[in-house]
Amino acid sequence: MPPIQIHKFSGSSLESAQRIKLAAELVKQAQARARVIVVATAMAGVTDALDAAANKAAQGDRVTGLDQLKVILDKHQAELSALGGSETGATRSEIEQISKELTEMIGSVALLAQLTQRTRDRILAAGEKLSARLLAVALDNTGLIAYVKDSDTFLETDDNFGEASLLRSLADRKIAVELLPILERNAVPVVSGFCGRAPDGATTTLGRGGADLTATSIAVAIEADQVTLWTDLDGVYSADPKVVPDARVIDHLNYREAAEMSYYGAKLLHPRSMIPVAPLGIPVYVRNSLEPGKSGTTVDGRFTPGEHPVKAISAIREHCLVSVEGKGMAGVPGIAARVFGRLAAKRISVTMISQSSSESTICLAVPARFIMATEAALKKEFQPDMSKGDIEEVVTRRNVGLVAAVGLGMANMPGVAGRVFTALGNNKISILAIAQGSSELNISMAIDECQIDEALQALHAEFKLHLSGSKAAE
Ligand code: ASP
Ligand code: MG
Repeated sequence: MPPIQIHKFSGSSLESAQRIKLAAELVKQAQARARVIVVATAMAGVTDALDAAANKAAQGDRVTGLDQLKVILDKHQAELSALGGSETGATRSEIEQISKELTEMIGSVALLAQLTQRTRDRILAAGEKLSARLLAVALDNTGLIAYVKDSDTFLETDDNFGEASLLRSLADRKIAVELLPILERNAVPVVSGFCGRAPDGATTTLGRGGADLTATSIAVAIEADQVTLWTDLDGVYSADPKVVPDARVIDHLNYREAAEMSYYGAKLLHPRSMIPVAPLGIPVYVRNSLEPGKSGTTVDGRFTPGEHPVKAISAIREHCLVSVEGKGMAGVPGIAARVFGRLAAKRISVTMISQSSSESTICLAVPARFIMATEAALKKEFQPDMSKGDIEEVVTRRNVGLVAAVGLGMANMPGVAGRVFTALGNNKISILAIAQGSSELNISMAIDECQIDEALQALHAEFKLHLSGSKAAE
């Protein structure tokens, strides 16, 4: 049997009828040697635009919400025509049906002036449903037979709307049942990425960038041979090329390096997308759909530090630091459990944690949007301890960013942390907090947000990453 490949296209690879045709050509070429499952992402900017329209509606501004929605819907109609979709064909009427539902949803949100996460998920998921249909038309035009499968009809998830997780064994069985028969007919399933189906049948989303996770989860369920994530960049870079102009494309990353980098702001990969494929060793290729001749970045289980113990420098902005401080905390069990338990109950996800061995502070970084909730939750939790004086205060610091040096090669190699701190020190960048896990794969530092760019440049230069990778970024 020919191998099975998953090809996922990012929004940028589907941003116009012309790009959609290129994507279809890539699938056609792959289909000559393999059985292909396609995962579609919403056209570039559409998820944000749907979100904006929904937010307008939630403010009670029905007219603006619907106007913004109309721009999105008109664009899909125009691209469908540009792809040669007929005025009366089945795809046109499916797109009209999705559009009608979206219009009704935005109208209801405006009427109620209320937008739940559940409703938001259903609205956002429509972006992928629309693009999947356009891509299917382009695939049909190349002579392939494409079938659209909306993930919210079969990809079983929990009901954590906005950031749902797959219910693995159930999801695996359903994926195989839905997709394998299509492959057996020699046809190409086109799956709408990013969304799933909650136990009660509602539409969920897997978090922003979640179509990567759709692709890798499908790969695991049907034991595919490889996954290609097509984007408009040459691969994963050693740092954000907008900030570090001499950043390079990294030829190879271990799954763990790729996962670390995505947590630390390399927007290219969804943070949880490497979890399913790593145990099975299914390789993931990140490639440029406009330059398919370039090999891009390969992510798999190999360990290839080469000359570079640090392979990439990444950063996340818009964070805050919160520390719970007090000498009375030392040696008292349960303080950390209370901090994190309280935050977990509020569904606040902590990005970085650090506690020194004197145990007199626990310091954590949270995304800036959670700062009010974090502060309130911790002050409430520790009110009794503060009145007893065991905890002195809960201190917050805003406008913080996190920088991380990532690479498996730094494990057991002395001196890497020293180089990181010296490089930052030489650039007068003061470090507010540090974290390094015992896996020694990532050294993370909280610094003032306004110094993030300088820090990225300084660390990239320190580890000579402009000499890494085989291909210069253009
Ligand atoms: N379209 C969704 C987003 O922008 C999912 C994805 O891009 O993977 O987050
Ligand atoms: Mg993405």
